[in-house]
Amino acid sequence: MTLLEEDTRTWTERAAGLTPRAGIYIDGAFRDARSGQTFASVNPATEQVIVDVAAGDAADVDDAVRSARAAFESGVWSRTAPGERKAIMLRLVALIGEHAHELALLDSLDMGKPVTEAYTIDVPGAAAVFSFYAEAIDKLYDEVAPTGPGDLALVRREPLGVIGAVVPWNFPLDLASWKLGPALAAGNSVVVKPAEQSPLSVLRLAELATEAGLPDGVLNVVPGDGPGAGAALGLHMDVDCLTFTGSTEVGKLFLQYAGRSNLKRVALECGGKSPNLVFADVDDLDAAADAACQAIFFNAGQVCSANSRLLVQREIHDELLERVVTRARALVPGDPLDPATRLGPLVSAEHADRVSDYINIGRGEATLVAGGERRGCYVEPAVFRDVAPSARIAREEVFGPVLAVLAFDTEAEAIMLANDSDYGLAASLWTSSLDRAHRVAPRLKVGTVSVNTVDALSPQTPFGGVRGSGFGRDLSLHALEQYTALKTTWIRFRDTP
Ligand code: NAD
Repeated sequence: MTLLEEDTRTWTERAAGLTPRAGIYIDGAFRDARSGQTFASVNPATEQVIVDVAAGDAADVDDAVRSARAAFESGVWSRTAPGERKAIMLRLVALIGEHAHELALLDSLDMGKPVTEAYTIDVPGAAAVFSFYAEAIDKLYDEVAPTGPGDLALVRREPLGVIGAVVPWNFPLDLASWKLGPALAAGNSVVVKPAEQSPLSVLRLAELATEAGLPDGVLNVVPGDGPGAGAALGLHMDVDCLTFTGSTEVGKLFLQYAGRSNLKRVALECGGKSPNLVFADVDDLDAAADAACQAIFFNAGQVCSANSRLLVQREIHDELLERVVTRARALVPGDPLDPATRLGPLVSAEHADRVSDYINIGRGEATLVAGGERRGCYVEPAVFRDVAPSARIAREEVFGPVLAVLAFDTEAEAIMLANDSDYGLAASLWTSSLDRAHRVAPRLKVGTVSVNTVDALSPQTPFGGVRGSGFGRDLSLHALEQYTALKTTWIRFRDTP
């Protein structure tokens, strides 16, 4: 039976059979928070509590870092042959596949993501990332420097030690895997602090990693809030690198935490306000309209690289806008457990408040031509036209299904508008001119440009930003650089007998 032939009841019954893990995962076992405190994990579709989760704080982070350090120094993972690490990570990939329904459901229940997307995109995406790094790690060679006779200088990449990973709620399993894949493959130990809105899939993943053979202490998970557990990890004197995905505002704090503690390495993947430039010479306006909607309404707009600014050349502005509006109106929010649903609720009532506030701000500064109504945590896809470049909805990250449409006349103006942002994560560009594509793409101040598509990414290509979007790079072999340090070993030997 295909996923779409299944019905809501099948998924609802599966959900009822779940017993989510909700403790702190240290040394290969679950336990309560030292304080005994818990916080509620709430399903935004129903606003019901799924489970009470252990609320870790600085004391639990300290335990987790101690466990990670002990595992690292023992060499039980850090000094195993790359081929052994590969075998265990590939067993984890297989277990992710075997538990795909469960992992998809945990993300769907925890943050409202349509279960179809969790099952067909997030879960296979996480498996693909672990598989990529597992397969890569025994194929990477170190260097021998070109020294003279009697000298041999080895330049090797070594694991850093203990990695702290603080991740957001929009792709709970996937974004954790973007950190864990390269960090573990390189031989590090990791402490993950999932977002308080969505800790369940990562907790289960850690348990599956143990089942796959990952030694105890190599992967620990401390759920808890940002200012408590997140800051404790950022400030910890025995964490060697802190890798973060989340808002720019919190990303800046991690730089301060590093400066106030041990100068740990920091890798930041932060927010965005990505532009989607559609030139009048675009080949297929319908494809551009489909993609423009996908780029802002997928995951209810809760995507760091969401193309939240649609910049359209004036000759085709009205024609494209009409198509976008028709598609936006057809996108009806629904039950995430219905396999046909493509738009679920926002992650929480607080976040729905924030997005609704932006829609109200937008009503005062532009013209709302579709959607914008709110019901519980659900918000209809909203499209604004005649948005000035100075408008708040054109400048600030809404992180919801809200599209700001701006018109431009010339290529130069399009580039200027696209770059007129504090952020620089991604951009899309639609044109039938190869010349234009090559001319414009290098001038966009972002980490990824998608040409005649949107949000192009894969385990093989680096993902990250510039400016207010941070400077880290997840995915691809380059991500391994974040979790390793170069070590030179210079050996002098007698060159003559
Ligand atoms: P957030 O910054 O509020 O939270 C992210 C993580 O940081 C969470 O685990 C949170 O608990 C923790 N945190 C919060 N306050 C903290 C503090 N004072 N000290 C330490 N840790 C703290 O972001 P969010 O709301 O979870 O996610 C949305 C944001 O993430 C958006 O800005 C989005 O653009 C960004 N994001 C970026 C990428 C990327 O790859 N560039 C990917 C996904 C999301």
